[in-house]
Amino acid sequence: MAEIRELPTVLANQIAAGEVIERPASVVKELVENAIDAHSRRIDILIQEAGLAEIRVIDDGDGIEKSQVPIAFKRHATSKINSKLQLFKVTTMGFRGEALPSIASVADLKLITTVAGADGYLYHVKGGKVVEEGPAASRPGTDVTVSQLFYNTPARLKYLKSPKTELGHIVDIVYRLALGNPTIAISLSNNGKELFRSAGNGNLHQVIAAIYGVQVARKMVAIAGADDDFKVSGYVSLPELTRSSGKYQTLLINHRYIRNFTLNKAIIAGYGSKLMVGRYPFAVLEIELDPALVDVNVHPAKREVRLSKEEQLSALIAKAIYERLAKENLIPDVGKTA
Ligand code: ADP
Ligand code: MG
Repeated sequence: MAEIRELPTVLANQIAAGEVIERPASVVKELVENAIDAHSRRIDILIQEAGLAEIRVIDDGDGIEKSQVPIAFKRHATSKINSKLQLFKVTTMGFRGEALPSIASVADLKLITTVAGADGYLYHVKGGKVVEEGPAASRPGTDVTVSQLFYNTPARLKYLKSPKTELGHIVDIVYRLALGNPTIAISLSNNGKELFRSAGNGNLHQVIAAIYGVQVARKMVAIAGADDDFKVSGYVSLPELTRSSGKYQTLLINHRYIRNFTLNKAIIAGYGSKLMVGRYPFAVLEIELDPALVDVNVHPAKREVRLSKEEQLSALIAKAIYERLAKENLIPDVGKTA
């Protein structure tokens, strides 16, 4: 049998990247989440060729202190948690300390970061190797440019879809991040053309209008509900406004976009008999809860989470929607014709 040895760092990071970084949209998600965790007020996402050529995320957040920059690129290195207790009460988007080393191991990553009042610092890594490092002039915040994604992992590179498909994934994740963070001004442009911009004034209804259009936003009503464990708020569409796909529903748990089939069913249940079969409403639901009630550490990309008291939350969501729609008695009840 061959000798058992530890994997070289770059290889270990590439393996981690296999889980966290699936496509350009994953890079966008990880970089924007880092910007959110750094208390940014404004985040600009500039991509070229649907992110296949370049992804740049500029934030005005805390920045990283010069001496800490190389540590940020080590695997499992994070400023966000440092105890098991904190792991079970995560309040930040990140905590696994995997994104930067993962991306830097499968791409060219150039980071310029500045803490207010200090000099800026540049750190440039390609395929896990530092190629450039030193002082750099910039405004407070962090500016990350990722290019040549998967240049050294051909299987991953081949798996990428057309620019149109990859752009679709990026736009989708940027929408969800903007819906989860209405107090942050987020913009997205591709090849210099602006595709999306949120004002960052905290108005969720305006973010919905920026994404789905004013006509859709006008037909969405505010809902709210709370019990001892959960607080639910957001907007759902009137029963007359539906689509044939369920993808216009966004579930946010403490500002984090997640997917949860049970909660999607609860939204539908809230419509009672008001929806036609095969039709789905628009919904954006922000769920606030004690972080101890949710385990985010189930999925490397954190798309799925484990929720305590899921049934209780489902009932609360369905009730909040049902009661709000009951007030709209001018809307015909399509399901009740039989
Ligand atoms: P995680 O987000 O799980 O902590 P990352 O690899 O994404 O791990 O980032 C490592 C560390 O680098 C973070 O914990 C944070 O301290 C720092 N960092 C990364 N991006 C930014 C940013 N845009 N602004 C400020 N600090 C950042
Ligand atoms: Mg992160």
